[in-house]
Amino acid sequence: VFVSREATILHADLDAFFASVEQRDDPRLRGRPVIVGPGVVLASSYEAKAHGVRSGMGAGKARRLCPEAVVVPARWEAYSEASRAVSEVFADTAPVVEKASIDEAFLDVRGLERISGTPEQIAARLRRDVRERVGLPITVGVATTRLIAKIASGEAKPDGLLVIPAGGELDFLHPLPVGRVWGVGPSTAGKLNDRGIATVGDAARLDEAVLVSILGRAAGRRLHAIAHNRHHGRVRTRRGRRSFGSQSALGRSSRSREELEAVAGGLADRVTRRMRAAGRAGRTVVLRLRFSDYSRATRSHTLPRPTAQTTAILTALRALLAAAMPMIEARGITLLGITVTNLEGERGALQLELPVDGPGRSHALDEAVDEVRERFGTDAMTRGGSRHASFQHGFE
Ligand SMILES: [Mg+2]
Repeated sequence: VFVSREATILHADLDAFFASVEQRDDPRLRGRPVIVGPGVVLASSYEAKAHGVRSGMGAGKARRLCPEAVVVPARWEAYSEASRAVSEVFADTAPVVEKASIDEAFLDVRGLERISGTPEQIAARLRRDVRERVGLPITVGVATTRLIAKIASGEAKPDGLLVIPAGGELDFLHPLPVGRVWGVGPSTAGKLNDRGIATVGDAARLDEAVLVSILGRAAGRRLHAIAHNRHHGRVRTRRGRRSFGSQSALGRSSRSREELEAVAGGLADRVTRRMRAAGRAGRTVVLRLRFSDYSRATRSHTLPRPTAQTTAILTALRALLAAAMPMIEARGITLLGITVTNLEGERGALQLELPVDGPGRSHALDEAVDEVRERFGTDAMTRGGSRHASFQHGFE
């Protein structure tokens, strides 16, 4: 495989993020197994992981595996603040940063050699800066693609640095268990293992059609491309994007206002999660409706300031929906959609939204919910009548 590009993409990922913040802030926890809970394990220190404790595990099981663990309650503001401080180090390190979640980002250091040194030197300095300025361990993978960089950081954890030079991708990938590939979950890995496909190299020896027959079209093609290092996602920030939207077809049966509010809640959730992942905030919330006679209508509301908070967007959406109910009842609704537009970039908006107390809590919660969902699946946390109430009930 010919790879012409240099290895300039960094994937930087904080180690055991929530647990590391707890160990940083309370010296008595250092070197000890720490579980952030109580209830479901939200994070565990490497000392606890050594006993088999994993995120997403129930408290009872975690305690059986590691009775000496110290269980501490989550402190969302502290994690949100640490995440923001680390983002500042990222921004000082590279001009192109794509934040992938609350504790990880991709950085492209192409063209920085003369100013900042080789990608490996930049990665080493980034690790040192995060340690000195924020007090947290972070692992960095360096490669020609986002995907390889991400897998490399996973292999280098904890507190490590791994550079996969251009041309060295297949030597790195092929011996790895197939489940290490980003996006290959336990059930996919299980299906492959059942057929004797244990490593990425095993998958590489099969025709694409065989992988498609096992995993389905999208996943099969993706794994085939990865196994041959032909999956080249670029690091990009979505500055060019003008709106975020989602919609839900409803069929023809009539819907109560409560049902429509539940649908709107799901859409607001999905859209704001994507906005936060992209580091964007928006001011204008648009409700889009289609009726049983195929006519359409939109209603919009512009907020006083940009936001990516689920509750703020959902509140606007509920008001629009309430105002549109007479029209909905008269004409029958077949599709409900939302769009958030009038977007602003990350910094200004997030600074407005993130004072240490008060409204910042909501953003910190949103980010933490995103994080938990990303790791344990959307169903790990469902929205009740009030998300904050259900969240606290389940996780604090
Ligand atoms: Mg991490």
